[in-house]
Amino acid sequence: MAGNRTFSMIKPDAVRDGHVGSILQLIEAGGFKIVAMKLTYLTAERAGEFYGVHKEKPFYESLKEVMSESPIVAFVLEKENAVEAYRTFIGSTNPANAAEGTIRKIYAKSLERNAVHGSDSDANAAIETSFFFSQQEIYG
Ligand code: ATP
Ligand code: MG
Repeated sequence: MAGNRTFSMIKPDAVRDGHVGSILQLIEAGGFKIVAMKLTYLTAERAGEFYGVHKEKPFYESLKEVMSESPIVAFVLEKENAVEAYRTFIGSTNPANAAEGTIRKIYAKSLERNAVHGSDSDANAAIETSFFFSQQEIYG
């Protein structure tokens, strides 16, 4: 059965450009409930750990830099079938392919600087949530 929670981040570019409020407004209007949230930052080393699955990819070093340039906003969202619903909501990884009205279509600058992260499975949502939050920081 699909879970009802997912993990997301607003990436450094989008925070720096002042899009936190607008992005969260879209997410809430989309029916996602925020159950944990913090403004924090990643060192390049921690960004590399977070995106460890991409270690062998040619964009890994650059991704580590982009993700550690400045603060991020990390949050946990609740909705039925959250992981899939949120991936659809944010749009394709490459904004050129993202559907109209999706967060990435509106706020991504490029394939790499694509505004938000969304977990790709229930298992990864749980791992990524515990990367940023203790149990006590999550509602419910
Ligand atoms: P995320 O994990 O951030 O939600 P995603 O699951 O849509 O994104 P992944 O394949 O997991 O996509 O890639 C992780 C991130 O690495 C992307 O969001 C993007 O910032 C960057 N990225 C992915 N592919 C490329 C690429 N070909 N060139 C540059 N950066 C890339
Ligand atoms: Mg991913």
